[in-house]
Amino acid sequence: MQSGISIIEQPAEMQHQAALLRESGRRIALVPTMGALHDGHLALIRRAAQLADVVVVSIFVNPTQFAPTEDLERYPRPFAQDVERAATSGAAIIFAPAVAGMYPDGFQTAVVVEEVTKVLEGAARPVHFRGVATVVAKFFNIVLPHVAVFGQKDGQQVVVIKRMAADLNFPVQIDVVPTVREPDGLAMSSRNSYLSAKQRHEAPVLFEALSAAGRAIAAGERSAQTVREMITQRITSMSSGSVDYVSVADADSLAERVQLPPGGRAMISLAVRFGTTRLIDNIIVTIQE
Ligand code: AMP
Repeated sequence: MQSGISIIEQPAEMQHQAALLRESGRRIALVPTMGALHDGHLALIRRAAQLADVVVVSIFVNPTQFAPTEDLERYPRPFAQDVERAATSGAAIIFAPAVAGMYPDGFQTAVVVEEVTKVLEGAARPVHFRGVATVVAKFFNIVLPHVAVFGQKDGQQVVVIKRMAADLNFPVQIDVVPTVREPDGLAMSSRNSYLSAKQRHEAPVLFEALSAAGRAIAAGERSAQTVREMITQRITSMSSGSVDYVSVADADSLAERVQLPPGGRAMISLAVRFGTTRLIDNIIVTIQE
């Protein structure tokens, strides 16, 4: 049983409840998810509960951030289990709108964040961040959160949402939780369930390669190209994974680096396909002076 958790499906009802909560002086935290909640999501919900009085978890598999060829249809949707897990982790409200509730007939507005969406995931998935930015902007207006919590697992998404919130003057603080990993280092992801036993066995190589790169940089490596090659070589020699990209970029602008500048912050990120399953991961490194 989920004690005391409300499930709200209508955006207008959610917005009304949020306005009442605000009027009564309550601080609202939003955790946007696509459901299939795992320990990574639960870490976000627990963090949100530390930051606010009322935690709203949205569960919405947003069709506009999937390309027609992507995994929208097969995306896992264990709703009852999600409600239970969210409640246990500190959520008070599940906002689970229908697609038609979010995008009624006649809907035609989009939020486009320009430069930081052109690279990495945005280059590989052209419609993705337009869908993400638009739906998150809608959630901000519907849930009226004081703070919204996102995972570093989707590193570029964090950059995009921070940019959007600043550019459009959303009065929402953006809080970021470190990536939660399986004991063998694989970043938790709903998509890990698509992996075969062999692919699952190989997949920790992603974080191993990122960690090795982090150690090389700490030991003085400053060539971004050497770091990219080191990661690619490790993944392709130790697994059946096919590398979509390996990036060494400025952590804020996402501009690819040639050299790693002393005192700078870089995001080292990658996307690798195991069969039809595409996994992403990243680490942030601070380069010593
Ligand atoms: P998703 O349901 O995959 O769209 O993810 C919802 C939120 O959970 C996003 O902010 C993700 O970055 C975050 N998230 C997903 N997996 C992890 C993880 N392993 N560690 C931390 N945050 C995560």
